[in-house]
Amino acid sequence: MNKTVSRKKASLTDNFGRPINYLRISVTDRCNLRCSYCMPEKGIRFLPKNEILSYEEIERIIRILAEMGITKIRITGGEPFVRADLMHFLSSISDINGIEEIHLTTNGILTPKFIPELKDIGIAGINLSLDALDRERFRKITRRNNFEEVLTTFHLVLDYRIPLKINMVVMDGLNIPDITLIANLAEKYPIDVRYIEEMPFNGVNRNGRPQLKWNHKRIFQELQKSFPGIQEIDASPNSTSSNYSVPGFRGKIGIIAGFTRTFCGTCNRIRVTAKGMLKTCLYDDGVFDLKNFLRSGVTDEQIRERLLHLIGSRAKDGFEAQKRRSEHLPVYESMSEIGG
Ligand code: SAM
Repeated sequence: MNKTVSRKKASLTDNFGRPINYLRISVTDRCNLRCSYCMPEKGIRFLPKNEILSYEEIERIIRILAEMGITKIRITGGEPFVRADLMHFLSSISDINGIEEIHLTTNGILTPKFIPELKDIGIAGINLSLDALDRERFRKITRRNNFEEVLTTFHLVLDYRIPLKINMVVMDGLNIPDITLIANLAEKYPIDVRYIEEMPFNGVNRNGRPQLKWNHKRIFQELQKSFPGIQEIDASPNSTSSNYSVPGFRGKIGIIAGFTRTFCGTCNRIRVTAKGMLKTCLYDDGVFDLKNFLRSGVTDEQIRERLLHLIGSRAKDGFEAQKRRSEHLPVYESMSEIGG
């Protein structure tokens, strides 16, 4: 095991001294949208049920990691709510000792009826993906007609006073007018809006030579045109976004340089994919098959030892993680498997 990993009581640090306290876990690779930047329209092979982690397996992983120092969980997908009994699962993990915050990333389509229960279990925040504020542009991007449901979720989450962030992936030729329209939501409502650089997963950019027309600098310049008073503010220590305030706005604006990778130095998170691969960096191709390990009958102590070793061998940043990938291929799996 790498000696630089410390495991004092409930405190976990990687081999570069970065505290690790945040686990993002994808509960399904299935989704009820077909966003062009995330997955192809047809021909997707979704995982059979026995190839994804069961809720019991996920709970076991969370419980062990909570004992090691993970305090914050984000549940993502695919679309988390397409998996049956998600609410029941969320309620169980909210009782795990050491877990202080549970967050959820959702596209908002099936979400409305669960919002009261989410409030009841004390959900710490919801990230809602919304790439356009125009019905037709929404349909074009997501290849589905569910704009109204997403708006319903937006308003209900606010009514229930659950902290809300909007995620918008910025795509040339598809949603540039929405940069300003979505920022306006943070003027009217107490929400944060985050713009995400499009990453070359297996949607539109799968050509071997990923290009990025809208990087974080250009997104900022576009915002500056509409909001000349926009100003950078200090980000929280592990923030993946550069954050901004605009005079008169109730919420903040953030830009996530997912393609440019400006945030690796303070990364405090690990991921588990729907099929149980542990990722210690978004850009690695999965450093360990947790599902098969769990299913081989190992003890909690063996799992803990293995996790400590893996967290103690993290890549320095996303570029190194990508170099370590088998065959040095760039990141091509769909975000629906990884969970964003
Ligand atoms: N279904 C949920 C949702 O729509 O929010 C959760 C899963 S989704 C994969 C999680 C996040 O990943 C979303 O905010 C989505 O916009 C983002 N995402 C997916 N593909 C992306 C890409 N190619 N580049 C940047 N962000 C991406």
